[in-house]
Amino acid sequence: MTATLMAGGPLAERIRAQVAEDVRGLGAIGLATVQVGEDEASTIYLRLKHKAAAEVEIVSVDRKFPHAISEEELLAEVTALNEDDSIDGILVQLPLTKHLDEARVIRAVDPVKDVDGFHPFNAGELYLGRPTLVPATPLGVMALLAEYKIPLDGARAVVVGRSTIVGKPVAHLLLQANATVAICHSHTDDLERYTLDADVLVVAAGVPEVITADMVKSGSTVVDVGINRTGEGIVGDVDPDAGMHAAFLTPVPGGVGPMTIAMLLRNTVRAARYRRGVLAFPLAQR
Ligand code: NAP
Repeated sequence: MTATLMAGGPLAERIRAQVAEDVRGLGAIGLATVQVGEDEASTIYLRLKHKAAAEVEIVSVDRKFPHAISEEELLAEVTALNEDDSIDGILVQLPLTKHLDEARVIRAVDPVKDVDGFHPFNAGELYLGRPTLVPATPLGVMALLAEYKIPLDGARAVVVGRSTIVGKPVAHLLLQANATVAICHSHTDDLERYTLDADVLVVAAGVPEVITADMVKSGSTVVDVGINRTGEGIVGDVDPDAGMHAAFLTPVPGGVGPMTIAMLLRNTVRAARYRRGVLAFPLAQR
């Protein structure tokens, strides 16, 4: 291994400390999470989010609804949270159960409280190059790149994965940082033709070690977003041997993972600033 490992833990810790200070300055901030059913992974993620919120003194409200809740009932609950002045951020834990239209529920969240950045308004602002509330994991990727002073202006960046949660938003953020960006996906022909060209490679495919060491350009920066649970524990989307070619590589676990919750907390502070008029939210300017 010759690559410098880009650890997320210490940076996430600093961001959380900054968030705690911001919360003290802004006064009570409320974050509501919405969960339908009892998906085990969702319950674990939510527990971590509530714990992290409590540590920075964000007041978090855990709204759990039975699997059988109707879409109209759920929409009414989201509307009530929109109208609740003590709530600055709303997070709908995905995936929702199959009988619910996820896109409709996300659209029901007030964009100014949309701390996940999934509402079409916020996704649209990002697309237009005017980021407002941006999904947490892509923000975490960009913060790590900044922390390790990875040059992006003019760099060739390749993103593997085009989900609305990671791939597409991170590609837009890289584009905004003046990288030249290619987005690859499961239909990409000859993936390694792209990855071998990448100065900065961000992988969010959800396929264990889909990027092998020989697919990584010498001296490049590789950000592995993947979290895959296998018999051997948690592995990323990139073979750790890629560290023999790359100059910088995020470890899994301990790279992007710790950044996500830190950026969610930061987004919650941002939403609170919008709601208090400390920052101008674009909708209010109509
Ligand atoms: P997703 O919604 O399943 O999207 C995966 C993307 O990868 C899709 O665009 C898919 O292409 C593409 N893909 C799949 N197999 C591929 C292949 N063999 N070659 C090239 N592209 C391929 O997943 P996601 O939500 O973006 O998450 C991706 C990974 O990141 C997962 O491991 C997830 O657990 C992890 N994750 C981590 C964090 C964190 O905090 N670190 C946060 C979110 C997600 P198509 O569009 O053609 O299907």
